[in-house]
Amino acid sequence: MVDRLKSLLAPPLFSTEEDNRIAGILNAILLTLLTASIVLTVIMVLFGNNLIAMALFVITLIISGCFLLMRGGYLRSAGIVVLLSLLLLVVFILVEGEGVHDLGILVLPIIIIIAGLILNTRMFAIITGLVVLSVGFVIMLEVNGYVERAVFTRESKGLEFVIFTIVLTITAVTIHLLTQNLKENLARARKSEAQWRSLVKNAPDRIAYLQQDGTIDFLNTVMDEPEAGVIGRTIYDYTLPAYHEVVRTAIAQVLTTGKPTSYEAIGITRFGTQDWYDNRLGPVKQNGSIVRLVMIATNISKRREMEIALEAEREFAQRIIHNMGQGLTITDENGRFIYVNPAYTQMTGYTADSLMGKTPYDIAPNSARTELHTQQITRQQGETSAYASTIQHVDGHILHVLITGVPRWQDDKFMGSIAVITDLTEQMEAEIERERLIAELESQNAELERFTYTVSHDLKSPLITIRGFLGVLRQDLESGDEAGVQTAVHHINNAAKTMENLLHDLLELSRVGRIISPPEATPFASIVADALWRVSGQSKAKKAQITVAETLPLVVVDRPRITEVMQNLLDNALKYTPEQREPLIEIGTTERAGETLFFVRDHGQGIPAAYQEKIFGLFERLDVSVEGSGIGLALAKRIIEVHNGRLWVESEGIGQGSTFYFTLPLAAAQDEATAS
Ligand code: ADP
Repeated sequence: MVDRLKSLLAPPLFSTEEDNRIAGILNAILLTLLTASIVLTVIMVLFGNNLIAMALFVITLIISGCFLLMRGGYLRSAGIVVLLSLLLLVVFILVEGEGVHDLGILVLPIIIIIAGLILNTRMFAIITGLVVLSVGFVIMLEVNGYVERAVFTRESKGLEFVIFTIVLTITAVTIHLLTQNLKENLARARKSEAQWRSLVKNAPDRIAYLQQDGTIDFLNTVMDEPEAGVIGRTIYDYTLPAYHEVVRTAIAQVLTTGKPTSYEAIGITRFGTQDWYDNRLGPVKQNGSIVRLVMIATNISKRREMEIALEAEREFAQRIIHNMGQGLTITDENGRFIYVNPAYTQMTGYTADSLMGKTPYDIAPNSARTELHTQQITRQQGETSAYASTIQHVDGHILHVLITGVPRWQDDKFMGSIAVITDLTEQMEAEIERERLIAELESQNAELERFTYTVSHDLKSPLITIRGFLGVLRQDLESGDEAGVQTAVHHINNAAKTMENLLHDLLELSRVGRIISPPEATPFASIVADALWRVSGQSKAKKAQITVAETLPLVVVDRPRITEVMQNLLDNALKYTPEQREPLIEIGTTERAGETLFFVRDHGQGIPAAYQEKIFGLFERLDVSVEGSGIGLALAKRIIEVHNGRLWVESEGIGQGSTFYFTLPLAAAQDEATAS
């Protein structure tokens, strides 16, 4: 109940502090007036002054209305209405009563005080004017006899005391409100002043007011030290001369645009030390024109030092990255390149610009993609990884690399990776070459073993023959069998020849790979002609038909060796055509998978698939009925391989003929290789 009454009597709340202040005052005044008017109405009724009582009653109603008006938010309107009503009431009371001599005139100053408290200057002047006019109006009525002359009885009545009491009470309340208001405002201003002073004085920045020519009017750091001698000097006295122009431009800019600006400069303190400052300069306006400038300067020396240190560090790191021999790439969270160092562009053949926005997948060979993806996931999980992979050079060739990937993080968020790429191609190639050499050595060793075994075995048989026929020779000599001696000598001679051939072939074989004449560009046709000439004896005897392709390329080879190969293949083609048939031999080239293949084709006995590899082994022979050593093809293969070529046979099998294919460096291809 009390609470409700309290809240009913409390002033309503407004959004601004000024409105709340006025509402507080108006509320108190309205309550006082309401009480007073009710009391006065009752008193007037008791004293039989019904007309005044009626007027007071009307005023009571109006005050109540104003009360509601104020609560409805019409603060100033309520104030004006109540003041005008009071003024009308007073005029009415004066006219009805004793003119300007009536006690009611005491209310007029109260109206003026209230107006001063709650209205703005203009309305206050209007109300004051109206009060003065009202007094004039009453006096005019009085002079013209419209107001009854006051009759003073010399003795005061009880009613006068009551009216005085009420009027004085209202005056007291109003004055109290006035002083209260003044005190509150003063306290608030002092508090606010103290707060601002402390804030400005203790601000970490330098805050200054400058005149338009840069003269310092105020500086927070010396606000309590007038003896510091800063005030009155100019901002230029505290700025390194190199930056005076910057300051001048900034001041001019603020003055012309009316907008704040900022600049960085080296400032000099009043103690002579120098520091970097970030200065914000803004206008201070009064009535729309700039009267001063406010400057807030923050010491940024530490930041500057850090920036310089960071920049030096960044440059240092960049120099290392730029000049390191290994490739370095930085990718974003989507795996796209945002930086590649020169070593990487050199390694891959791509320009840095062309790689930006691409991902490592875009330039990886298919075979490396799955691994790249797996490694990317590993890094997204925060792990560093090192793995062997391949990348494809812009010209298509594959590089073997070792990649070390490190994830980049920022606030727990995966930002991409940094990868260091080491080119292992040379090492890998050296490794492959080493392995090839080892394999070659091993196969040569194996061959040597077989060779030693077979040589001792094969050399044995002519030796046995020789030894056998030496016995026969001795007997024939003893018995004087001339014919027998001839036969024995012939057999011994043959056996010795076989041994000689065998030893010759073996010597040849041992030389291949070691002794090779410098390759020279030679028309393959001339090699064919040489070889054909060498086998012309057998081919004529066998009535062989040999066709040679009309155009044959220029090859870069050790000519005598390749002639030997051709001689060997032709020899075999003639040898392994059954006696009853006339050998049919073709020599030429064909293109297969972009490669030129040389071939020697016969229509002879053919070679079963199972032996097509074997016959190239040392002493491997299929047909022992035909004379031979089993060294020819092994030798031919070795010679071709020394020329970086391949030699193999294709045959549909027994009776189907054979085609021996081989490759050789061509003169044109050699040129290209040299050019590149
Ligand atoms: P050789 O001819 O001295 O026996 P090769 O190394 O030249 O030794 O040949 C090895 C074996 O390969 C031969 O013994 C023979 O069985 C088989 N061969 C070689 N050329 C042909 C050919 N053109 N047709 C059928 N078989 C062949």
